[in-house]
Amino acid sequence: MTFELPPLPYSQSALEPHISANTLSFHYDRHHAGYVANLNRLAESTEWETADLEQVVTGASGPIFNNAAQIWNHTFYWNSMSPDGGGTPSGAIAAAIDAAFGSYDEFRSKFATAATTLFGSGWAWLVANSNGGLEITQTSNADLPLLHGQTPLLVADVWEHAYYLDYQNARPAYVEAFLDHLINWDFAAQNLASS
Ligand code: MN
Repeated sequence: MTFELPPLPYSQSALEPHISANTLSFHYDRHHAGYVANLNRLAESTEWETADLEQVVTGASGPIFNNAAQIWNHTFYWNSMSPDGGGTPSGAIAAAIDAAFGSYDEFRSKFATAATTLFGSGWAWLVANSNGGLEITQTSNADLPLLHGQTPLLVADVWEHAYYLDYQNARPAYVEAFLDHLINWDFAAQNLASS
């Protein structure tokens, strides 16, 4: 099996002005595609050559895990954003957020804190835990909720390559744009419904 780069769910300019086409070009064509090329090279002639991506993510370690998990995380991240996303959710996901955090504003504040305070490279997630409740978590490097018994609902990439061309070191401004203009609540609601 050859691991493949899934298509972006929108054009590279679709998230402007919040994330530029220049950022998406580097992030998708270089970083995401690079992880796919690395995994195909590393998995060749190993037990993972014929596995599917989730089997590699949940079973491998070292560089094979790192590249496979980064493929999975980036595909999930593209789907966590929408050109007409952001702001307050509605329906079941809104009710679940109110139940877990008290209000959307409290969720927004806690997610922003998690995304801006993660030290180094990693990801900020909204997840459903094994009891069905919602939590905000941070993972470092390529780590992801599938390894922690949680169902991911949405994710923000907070590696510097996700925002540096547009925001330089101002990670909080990128996180605010993600929350207020980009979050794909339909995707989060679908993930919650199937969790
Ligand atoms: Mn990234």
